[in-house]
Amino acid sequence: MATGSFAARLFGGRPASPTQTLLGRLERDLQVPRGTTTLAVLILSLARSDAIDATLELPESMLINTVLLERIGNTLRADDYLALATPDEIWIVLPALASATIAHLAATHIGRVLEAPLQAGTLTVTVNPCIGIAVTSVSQGTPLGLLHAASEARKRARSLSRLFFVATETEGLDLHSKDLINAVAGALAQNRLTIAYQPKVDMATQRVLSVEALIRWPADLTPVMSPMVVVEIAERFGMIEELTRHVLHTVLREYTTLLTATGLPRIWINLSAGMLADPDLPDFLQQGLDIWSTGAGVIGLEITESAVIADIEQSIEMMHALTGRGFELAIDDFGTGYSSLAYLRRFPISELKIDKIFVKHMSSSAPDTQLVRTIIDLAHNFKLKVIAEGVEDATTLDLLAQMGCDQIQGYVYAKPMPAAELVRWIASFHGELAGN
Ligand code: C2E
Ligand code: MG
Ligand code: MG
Repeated sequence: MATGSFAARLFGGRPASPTQTLLGRLERDLQVPRGTTTLAVLILSLARSDAIDATLELPESMLINTVLLERIGNTLRADDYLALATPDEIWIVLPALASATIAHLAATHIGRVLEAPLQAGTLTVTVNPCIGIAVTSVSQGTPLGLLHAASEARKRARSLSRLFFVATETEGLDLHSKDLINAVAGALAQNRLTIAYQPKVDMATQRVLSVEALIRWPADLTPVMSPMVVVEIAERFGMIEELTRHVLHTVLREYTTLLTATGLPRIWINLSAGMLADPDLPDFLQQGLDIWSTGAGVIGLEITESAVIADIEQSIEMMHALTGRGFELAIDDFGTGYSSLAYLRRFPISELKIDKIFVKHMSSSAPDTQLVRTIIDLAHNFKLKVIAEGVEDATTLDLLAQMGCDQIQGYVYAKPMPAAELVRWIASFHGELAGN
């Protein structure tokens, strides 16, 4: 059996080239995940106007390469890496992605920064980029398999005249994954996904102020899937818009009953990263409201922190477009991508939800307790309501109450439940308080 790293085997004893270094790192990242297990490889072909000079390696063209790599490098995160494979092709690796859609956002960024011509001395070069994207779960992909898939996707992008194409074909996926994709597509087509609602309890009044709507996989459908997996598959295989439409319509249909029975003013739904980047999102949501003759005030939109920080400026613009239509916004899973702390004051949001990973370990971990305290104080400075999710026990609940956390969502009060059950639960919760 061959020994040594994949890159070393591929390139023999020659000194490490940029692509060799990239392949070495990619191989390590595929073996030992850092953070999340989703990783993407992008192959960018440039179709540059100085293509012939570039192959001759003229000094001006070499200078252009530096400008190119710098421009693209500036759009990437600190952990991403890239290499110029040929004068016309750049390989980019995005490890530890919060979701596959972040790779689509990265491609959009790259396309944008390459719009302006590149300049070196008297030479002006334009490029007509197209990008192939291959996404994998870390334990499943191999460097060559990913490069091959990205390269095929790039050809597809070029033939369709699109900026990028994602290797969404089931190639490289095992049978089980194909089953999952078909199952999600089938459940969506037959309207089989249901919604469970989880109360958010206000600490000051001990009343349910709103609920979060979460999708649920029907009990009688196999293979059994968690909401996270359903959402991940919908995002990766182009079904997220359909899923969100289904959630919105179900929630709006059930809202009238819920409002009459409980007086609940608002239901929060989750938006995925890809939806936030879609300029048609406000109209998409408005269409749903129009069908049910409902105002935007009844719907709150939870946006994960990782989705927002993928493209801060574009996200802020979109968030303003959404609040302009009357939607309330919350940042979900806050604390995991703390780079956005500095931007918090610029987000037009009303609520901040602390990620349950910190809440979970609060009673046993001093640093986590401190972090939660800091987030609560910071949010209050910005006049935001803070919600702790994933609160499972009374000790954590007491700690959060002492820290001034505004609302609690967690098993300590209730698990997510169907609408009819929620009506009974709220009646009993509020009734108990009234001493009935
Ligand atoms: P999320 O939006 O952060 O939702 C909170 C998750 O925490 C839910 O998991 C909820 O059931 C769980 N949870 C609440 N309280 C507790 C607790 O005390 N302990 C523990 N261990 N867990 C608690 P769920 O329903 O499995 O959903 C997981 C994620 O899937 C959601 O996280 C959200 O990111 C995504 N998701 C669910 N429904 C949708 C949807 O309709 N659209 C989109 N885009 N994403 C969705
Ligand atoms: Mg949420
Ligand atoms: Mg959350």
